[in-house]
Amino acid sequence: MVATRHIWRLARRPVGSVAEGDMVFGEEAVPDLAEGEFLLKVLYLSLDPTNRIWMSDAEQYMPPVELGAPMRGLVAGRVVKSRKDGVAEGDLYSGFGLWADLMVTDGGGLNRIELPPGVPLSVAFGVLALVGPTAYFGLLDLGRPKAGETLVVSAAAGGVGQVVGQIGKLKGCRVIGIAGGPEKCRFLTEELGFDAAIDYRNEDVGARLDALAPDGIDIDFEQVGGPVMNAVVSRMRLHGRVVLCGLISRYNDTEEREDSGYWRLVLMRRLSIHGFIVTDFAGRWAEALAALGGWMADGSIRTRQDVRPGLDRALEYLDALYTGGNFGKLLVEVGAGDTGGTAR
Ligand code: NDP
Repeated sequence: MVATRHIWRLARRPVGSVAEGDMVFGEEAVPDLAEGEFLLKVLYLSLDPTNRIWMSDAEQYMPPVELGAPMRGLVAGRVVKSRKDGVAEGDLYSGFGLWADLMVTDGGGLNRIELPPGVPLSVAFGVLALVGPTAYFGLLDLGRPKAGETLVVSAAAGGVGQVVGQIGKLKGCRVIGIAGGPEKCRFLTEELGFDAAIDYRNEDVGARLDALAPDGIDIDFEQVGGPVMNAVVSRMRLHGRVVLCGLISRYNDTEEREDSGYWRLVLMRRLSIHGFIVTDFAGRWAEALAALGGWMADGSIRTRQDVRPGLDRALEYLDALYTGGNFGKLLVEVGAGDTGGTAR
């Protein structure tokens, strides 16, 4: 009997928000294992804002997903069959993979998972696969936080944002989060220890920043762009640092928009704006995992995951990232109870 798997393939490039029909979900035969490959049963699929970027053919930091090809995604999974030396059945791996429940891989883009003590796989994968290192390198290397400085982070209750704010607190910053809705804002201040939170859906962000940071902002950990970014950047202090991590409010745009108002301020206030992609730090991944794993194990960093069942509903869930429908790091539970390179 031929083993089959379920898999999503990119059918057409989305225009605006991702829509039904942009990807197709199907069942197909699992490719045979060649020497040097192993079969991974996917337990968790990470849904990330960058998935929308990979579906497009706009300029980006990795090749776009080809039309008709399996959708790329970050996965965590368990080895169920191996023809690769050093990889054993039962081993857990995470990294670049596919929106599928089974994938054949030579291990490229995947790393063996070391679970920090007491931390379940969904939490370890949710934080350590991408968003934690993004927060770690973006804030520490590019934001260069110093005790007493004011740090503002947008999309603060999401995967990256919740970790950025908590590392900021560990470094002695005053941390202001910006998020959509009172429940997310309450979570930031009451559960994660942020100093303040601004509900951009119901409050005037500029007026609240004026009240909370009358002397200005030292670090903008920017994840949103648009009016939220304008409000923050226009209140930066001399020699402030804008860490340009993401622009999620713009990912579904169908035409270029100009947010030019603050570029003059960048000049006059000698701001550093540093765009980065976390893969720039691939050579230092182990450092981030060790630090983040330690903080997770000793309770210094607590995170919330938004885990949803069913690979077949992944496309529907993805849309939540662009509407604020997720609360915490968005993951799909693929493995029903038990989650690069040249994966196929
Ligand atoms: P999140 O878990 O933060 O989910 C996205 C969140 O963005 C939503 O929950 C929503 O929160 C907020 N959002 C969506 N649309 C808007 C909008 N129009 N205006 C304001 N806020 C909006 O996702 P991640 O933590 O995975 O990613 C956050 C950002 O970091 C993204 O921009 C992503 O592209 C970027 N990123 C960059 C990386 C890099 O290497 N540079 C790596 C990983 C992520 P709310 O309800 O608060 O509006």
